[in-house]
Amino acid sequence: MAAVELQGVSKSYDGTTFAIEGLSLQCRQGEMLALLGPSGCGKSTTLKLIAGIECISGGRILFNGKDVSELDTASRNVAMVFEDYALYPHLSVFENIAFPLRIRSYLHSEVQRAVDRIIDLLELQDVRDANVRKLSGGAQQRVSIGRALVREPDLIMFDEPLSHMDAAQKVGLRSEIARLQKAAKLTSVLVTHDQTEAISMADRIAVMDKGVLQQVATAAEIYARPANLFVASFIGEPPMNLLPAELLASDASAVQLALAGGAQLALPLVPHGAILQGATGRELVVGIRPEHVRLAAPERADIPAFDACIDTVETRGDHDVLQLQSAMGPLVMEVGGPSGFLAGQTLRFQVEPRHVHVFDAKTTRNLLGEQA
Ligand code: ADP
Repeated sequence: MAAVELQGVSKSYDGTTFAIEGLSLQCRQGEMLALLGPSGCGKSTTLKLIAGIECISGGRILFNGKDVSELDTASRNVAMVFEDYALYPHLSVFENIAFPLRIRSYLHSEVQRAVDRIIDLLELQDVRDANVRKLSGGAQQRVSIGRALVREPDLIMFDEPLSHMDAAQKVGLRSEIARLQKAAKLTSVLVTHDQTEAISMADRIAVMDKGVLQQVATAAEIYARPANLFVASFIGEPPMNLLPAELLASDASAVQLALAGGAQLALPLVPHGAILQGATGRELVVGIRPEHVRLAAPERADIPAFDACIDTVETRGDHDVLQLQSAMGPLVMEVGGPSGFLAGQTLRFQVEPRHVHVFDAKTTRNLLGEQA
């Protein structure tokens, strides 16, 4: 049974437009599920609906199989961790973590036991009695996580928890939250617009756009097989190259695609052929990740090579990112660095056919794996 399940959930604030539409999603016991998408896609609304801060306009929300759609926040046993920590600045670390228990009139001995357990778990012993104002941003966020955990919630929701951190703090706290979440088997929902955060912390990622769920899967699955053009362009940095194409021909062994400038790509029948065979003229979009645009290799004479002119070279340490102009259109290419390439030079590149994604230009869906 899923710990949290959304069944066809919709939310309209004004009665006409939908902030969330037909959202069906599960967060399993002990997993961290990320809600990822650009600003305005409905992440915060989803979070508020799960927490009971906003009420749903349609559908159902279940906690451990029980319908909680009509329950208020206090009855849902959900804890939140916010980006701005929301700590009480005049209180110590201990008292901030103890706060949710004190307002529920827990016994003194219960508070001591519960808070000390959390302080040990988060390794905050050294600052136990310090005022939270004296702590770094990362330590303050650990205290706010401690405060969320102390009540042993059924679900913990992280709302952009690392937005206020600098790059170094982010890396540390990212792995710390992920470690803690796994160690304590916390069922958790992470709201973020940052794909690195989602990929590094969550077990599964729900990608959203304009209030509609686009895909939910592990980061590796999403990367290897994005469900549609939105997911393909949103996940991956630099983003996937997307090039207009048309189905030229197909036979028993391969499908032939025509790209701009007379360029052609032959893709193996499996897995592309089954869905593309016979649909000559169909408008498509070819997707190629920058790391799959490779320098032409003499031993790969079996696949075509194309010329390109280098527009810019961006050095990123262990690899370089090249902006290319080619007959098939502008392309981004990733090569091992330092590559020594300079703007203005030409090169020849190849694309491994099995790494080519094919999308339907009209529906935007990834055609791999779909039925014929
Ligand atoms: P995100 O968290 O992904 O940035 P939100 O859930 O905040 O997205 O917003 C989704 C949509 O709902 C947006 O179009 C936003 O303008 C709208 N919205 C969010 N909160 C409210 C509100 N309280 N009243 C009216 N519209 C809202």
